[in-house]
Amino acid sequence: MVSAARRGQPHCMKSEAGVEAILGPEAHTVRANGDPHAPSQAHVARTDTIQPWTGASGAGRADPRWLPRVDYLATGGTIATVQDDSAGAAGPTLTAEAIARSAPAIDEVADLRAAQFMQLPSPSIAFADLLRLRDEIALRIADGSAGVVVSQGTDTIEETAFALDLLTVASAPIVVTGAMRGPSLPGADGPANLLAAVQVAASAVARGLGVLVVFNDEIHAARFVSKTHTSKPSAFQSRLVGPIGWLSEGHPVIVSRPVGRACLSVPSDAHVPPIALIRVALDDDGRILPSLAAHGFRGVVIEGFGGGHVTPPMVAAIERLVSEMPVVLASRTGSGELLHNTYHYPGSETQLLEIGAIPAGILDGLKARILLSLCLAASPARETVAAAFRAVGMAAAPER
Ligand code: ASP
Repeated sequence: MVSAARRGQPHCMKSEAGVEAILGPEAHTVRANGDPHAPSQAHVARTDTIQPWTGASGAGRADPRWLPRVDYLATGGTIATVQDDSAGAAGPTLTAEAIARSAPAIDEVADLRAAQFMQLPSPSIAFADLLRLRDEIALRIADGSAGVVVSQGTDTIEETAFALDLLTVASAPIVVTGAMRGPSLPGADGPANLLAAVQVAASAVARGLGVLVVFNDEIHAARFVSKTHTSKPSAFQSRLVGPIGWLSEGHPVIVSRPVGRACLSVPSDAHVPPIALIRVALDDDGRILPSLAAHGFRGVVIEGFGGGHVTPPMVAAIERLVSEMPVVLASRTGSGELLHNTYHYPGSETQLLEIGAIPAGILDGLKARILLSLCLAASPARETVAAAFRAVGMAAAPER
């Protein structure tokens, strides 16, 4: 059977019923049972009918000074971190309004509503923060925002943006950005990145693409983007597919539209279970694996060599783990689809898939861990996890 992901349609995964394909090219949501903060169907319907060039009601459209409303939620990171010569950079302190003022050209692009959502370095962000952020974004879009920009620390953007992509359903653009160079450094990139992010969030061409990451005048899909350098402004790359677009003279250009988007129905107060991420290295005997369950891990992502391989001594431990928790197999190369049927030696991808490892498809270990975490928060059913990886990771071996 050809899955909806293969046909390029978004999915929404319900905790009660596994995976449910949904209908149109615009994403919809399923209200989480008992979740008072989840957007209602009515909100989503209204969100999906708002056009970014008309705003919430269309009022004022005839006025040539009218601009689309964009909400900006600041969460901290280098974009908010001023270097102090004596003490170095202790942490983010600049407010959302101060950051927005550093890019005055935004006033010509959007009616910007800046708000401080939290003030953290991004390694301190937790899943609970992301669920709150998801709810805040949904409320603002339901309230008439044409698009939402989130700024945060760059260290974890490849994970947080992907998590938001899995958790949000609106068609309105949601754009994550930040800065590689702080505001007090020569060539600070925060103001330019924020301006570009607002230009994308205000644009009709960016609707229905899921969560986007905008840096260095490039537009990346959250599912594909990684931080690939410790300090360069060009650190954000989508190694597998390249950026899906860019900004030229302030205008967003989209050249490819990702398929296989999915959303997970995770309640606002959900406990996101601990998932281990294990990177395999030369001559690793896998001695950590038998202790994962005792440490409380509820699942594991194994980043194997090359196309998805481990050392021979790890195989028996992985087979035992499969009986205890979902085991997802990804590649440590950081790009390309996991192999399914190329090698047949001890520790090969063929052997690991045969003993029950779930292929991560095109997702790298970090993104596979986010998907497995949110899947288990939505539903513990093993078939839901496998279906999610088929849909989002495009791990399509069974259909070949
Ligand atoms: N360490 C910082 C953070 O992620 C890095 C940055 O923002 O670029 O918060």
